[in-house]
This record gives sequence, C-alpha cells and structure tokens, in this order.
Amino acid sequence: MIRMAVQVVFIAEDGGREVHEVARLDRGDLAPETLGLSLAEAKAITGSLQHALVDAQVARWREAQNVCPDCGGSRSLKGHHRLVYRTPFGTVRLASPRFRACSCQPRTHRSVSPLAALLPERASPELLYLETKFASLVSYGLTTRLLGELLPVERPIGAERVRRHLFRVARSHEAALDTAPTSLPVDGVIDADDAPPPDGPLFVGLDGGYVRGREQGWFEVIAGKSVASFHRDGRDPDPGGRCFAFVQTVDERPRARLVDTLRRQGLRPEQPVIFFSDGAETLRRLQRNLVPEAEHVLDWFHVTMRLTVLGPMVKGAWSDPDTAATKTAALERIKWLLWHGNPAEAIDAIEDLADDVAAALEDTPGAPALEKLATTLAELATYITNNAGHIIDYGERFRGGERISTGFVESAVNQVIDKRFDKRQSMRWTPRGAHLLLQTRTRVLNGDLDDLIRCRYPAFRMPSVAEAAPGL
Ligand SMILES: [Zn+2]
Repeated sequence: MIRMAVQVVFIAEDGGREVHEVARLDRGDLAPETLGLSLAEAKAITGSLQHALVDAQVARWREAQNVCPDCGGSRSLKGHHRLVYRTPFGTVRLASPRFRACSCQPRTHRSVSPLAALLPERASPELLYLETKFASLVSYGLTTRLLGELLPVERPIGAERVRRHLFRVARSHEAALDTAPTSLPVDGVIDADDAPPPDGPLFVGLDGGYVRGREQGWFEVIAGKSVASFHRDGRDPDPGGRCFAFVQTVDERPRARLVDTLRRQGLRPEQPVIFFSDGAETLRRLQRNLVPEAEHVLDWFHVTMRLTVLGPMVKGAWSDPDTAATKTAALERIKWLLWHGNPAEAIDAIEDLADDVAAALEDTPGAPALEKLATTLAELATYITNNAGHIIDYGERFRGGERISTGFVESAVNQVIDKRFDKRQSMRWTPRGAHLLLQTRTRVLNGDLDDLIRCRYPAFRMPSVAEAAPGL
C-alpha cells in the first residue's frame, strides 16, 4: 500500500514555509488501472492547486487595497461581493472588496470594487483560448464535451457560453482592425538602405463558398490564402500559407483584414503582392476594389481548363478529319497566344474559329455539336475579354520559376469553410456569427490564436510573464 500526499509549499521572503495539503492518494497492488494518476485524480489535484494559488494571489493583492492608489489615503471597506471567475482549472469564487470612493475621486461613484475592475471578464484568458480554439475547429457542443472531459470544471460548460466567449475574442480583433494600417507597402514606403532585399512575391487568391443562413437560404463567404513564393535565406516557404476569411455583407474592414494577414506573414516594403483570380466577375471586382494597387493575374489553371474542354468539342464538330485537324491547330494557337500573354490576338483567333463554326452551321443548320461549340467559344471570348487586363506572359513567368496558378486557393475554401460549416449538419448561421467564427478559425489554422487573445490581454503567454519556477 502506498499513501501519497500532495502538498503546496508557500515560501515567504524570509524563507519561512507554509504547507497545505491539497490531495491524498492511496495505491494498492500495481496494475495497469492503478499505475499513475487517473484522470479524475489529475483533475482534482490541478483544481486544488489552482485554488491554493489563486487564494494566495488574491490575499497578497488584498493587503495593498486599504489605501487609495491615487492619493495614498486610507479608504474604508463597505463590504464584499462574491466574484465568480472561470478558469480551465476550476471556477474560483473570490471575495471582492467594495470600498467607499475616496474623497480624491470625482463624486460620480459612491463605491469602488478594485478586484472587479481588475477582472472585467469573468473568464480567464487561458479558458478563453481553449474554448475559442476548439470551438473554431469543432462544434460548440463538442467543445463543451471535450473540455468538460479533460478539465476540472465543476458544472458542465454551456455551448452558448462558449459561443459568446468566442465572439468576444473575435470582436476584440475586429475593434483592433479599426486602427490597423491599411496600406500595402508597395508604394511610397521603402526599406532602409542597409535592409536585405525582401523575399519573393506573396501570392494571394480569393474564392467564395456558401454557408446555410438562419434566416433565408445561403449566403456567401469569402476565403483567401496567401503563400510566399520563396525566402531569400533559403527557408522553404510554408506551403500552407496564411488564410483569411470574411462575410462580405457584414465586414466593414476587409482591406485592413487582408493587410493584417499579409503583414503577419512578414510582408516587407518593396515586396510584391500578386493576386490570382479564377476570372469570375464578382471575385475579380472584389479583389480589385480591395487592393487596386497590387498586380492582378488571371489564374492559368482556369484558362487552360476552358481550353481543355474545347479540345474534344472542336475535334467532334467536323466529320472531315483534315478540317478537324486544322481547327484543332487553330485552338492550339489560341492557347499559345494566351500562354504568351496576347489576349487581343487570342480574342481575334477565337472569333475566327467562331466564324468557321457559324459557316459550318449554315451548311448543317442545328447540328448539336456545332451549336454547343459556338456557345462555348462565345463564352470563352467573353471570359478572355473581361479578364484581358489580367492575362500575363505565363510562359515567361513559368520559365522564371514563378507561380502561374493557384490550386491553393480552393484548398483554403475547403479548409476554412467546409469543414466547420458542414453542409450536412443542421447548423444554420447568421452572417455576423459566421464572420466572427471565421476570424477565430483562420487564426487557429494559421497557428496564431494567441495573438488574438493578446488583443485584450497583451501579456497572455508572453515569456516575460511566465515567471518560470526556478528549481527549488
Ligand atoms: Zn484617494
């Protein structure tokens, strides 16, 4: 039989020690079930440690509270409130003293509660972090079950409270964006003379997805991703890049959000930012409005996809093999012109081919293969015309080893939207709620949720405050 006591020892400045027993464990014969701590024991011990530490901290703080912090005069106690404060290691109940307001203060308040003022939120940053992190990845309900299973919380954590906390965390960043810089450092700003040259361009792309609305139908969510092309110091760029997302109808600061994401990624003055788009009208307009000063490029993948579809259609439209071969060559030339960044000539070539189709239709009116081809060619001409300004010399960029296509953007939509806003679930969203959840979710995916917590709690998990315990 083993009997073990867990004690907390407080060491005073004069070296005096004060010992509290926080737990006692008994162990019989060794077995897999009895080796080491059970989850219940671990929770009980952690909970007791938390209470011991918090009690000591509040008692120490309380010693300095009988004098007014502004004038140093003594202040008189009116009574106590009970302050309930939630932490990952249990809910603590603190005696919050209430003092008569000091005569040095303006007479707007009769009493002051300094502990309540010190802890304006009734949940600790660590708890906010955990709730927000998991609720960004899985449902609110699953988050409460997970945290309840692992942490010494006395009452079940409510899903609604987790949601509220997550929104609060997200809103603090929204507020911070109000004053955040909105200029991409492409114009005006330059690096110091002795600064090393910036890394290769950042490639950014946006795409849209749909989320089921609580009120009516579906609404659009924009997700984007930014990936670094290369680092000058030889580090491999993170292929995952950085993602960001927003609901356009409720977002008042999409530009600040985007700039914030790029800056977090280390965007330097003079470092180019290149936007890729799939050529869809709404996204192209959004992108151009957001960052008119950046370079915008039509994604080669989307160009080539349209041409690939045309291949078999051209081949199947003419029964004479020689004609079919000539028309296929014409299509190849269109591709070649686009690849080398000649949209105007490509549009001429598309129209020439469309004329040939029109002529063939006069011979065989209503031929389905020709009609289909005529429609598809007309769509292609429109698409190239609309995006002509964003068609670059892909061949040259490709030979230079640069990115000309962005499969990564579609993965962003999948990663940011689909997995958490699962269409199969019955969950419905308000645009505002979805927007806030997207903010915490992207931060979790980018691995910098702590920064979001630091909007409210600047010292959260900063090394300087860890006050790591020296060896005793
Ligand atoms: Zn005073």
